[in-house]
Amino acid sequence: MGKVYLTGAGPGDFELMTIKALRVIKEADIIIYDRLANPEILKEAKEGVELVYVGKQDGRHSVPQDDINELLYQAALKHENVVRLKGGDNFVFGRGGEEGIYLFDRDIKFEVIPGITSSIAVPAYAGIPVTHRGITTSFRVVTGHEAPNKEVSQVDWNSFTTNETVVFLMGFHNLSKISRKLMGIGKPKDYLCAVISKGTTKDQKVVVGTLENIVEKTHGIETPALIIVGEVVNLREKLQWL
Ligand code: SAH
Repeated sequence: MGKVYLTGAGPGDFELMTIKALRVIKEADIIIYDRLANPEILKEAKEGVELVYVGKQDGRHSVPQDDINELLYQAALKHENVVRLKGGDNFVFGRGGEEGIYLFDRDIKFEVIPGITSSIAVPAYAGIPVTHRGITTSFRVVTGHEAPNKEVSQVDWNSFTTNETVVFLMGFHNLSKISRKLMGIGKPKDYLCAVISKGTTKDQKVVVGTLENIVEKTHGIETPALIIVGEVVNLREKLQWL
């Protein structure tokens, strides 16, 4: 019986992967992976490795999570080193917890290899620190997947504070709803926000705007993209280093 490595691939830039992740990728018999901001990582795998793509592809649905869980289990019965590779960190909107629990319940050993999450690294590559003394007292990472006009929202929109940076993952397709919702809960329409696409890769694009005009400014922007809202976006004027 093998072991499953729940491994974070980092946000995109190859060198932002951990040394530990690189080691298990090199040793893997099978790699079960999602859409990665940097597919070059897979070239590090040994010859004969089995590569199984379970992510979303334009227009087509991704493999259901239950099937992925079972795939990991079956792979561990057959192989010694199983790598479950996800962009960023597996425990940040990566369903790594569900996979770990499924394996635990079946007595399969697993190890978690945290990755650098895009929620922090992508803003950093755009020259935006998620916190800054005197400006923010907290930051939060929110799923933008759920349309904010849903009747009963899982996201506690009214709890956002003034001195807080908010990063939305999986929210680009809901950008207009998110910006409208934020204005609806009282954020000023000139409140700063940025959309960062393909962050930390050579194709990185950063668009800075306000809640009011960010939608029109981001036409043609490609995913993966995240949204960052807060005064820290201003700091990019001096911290833009890339
Ligand atoms: N586990 C991942 C996040 C998974 S959710 C992590 O820790 O980074 C996927 C979302 O992450 C995307 O919809 C997008 O909002 C964001 N994302 C991931 N990689 C990105 C990148 N290179 N640039 C911009 N956004 C990215």
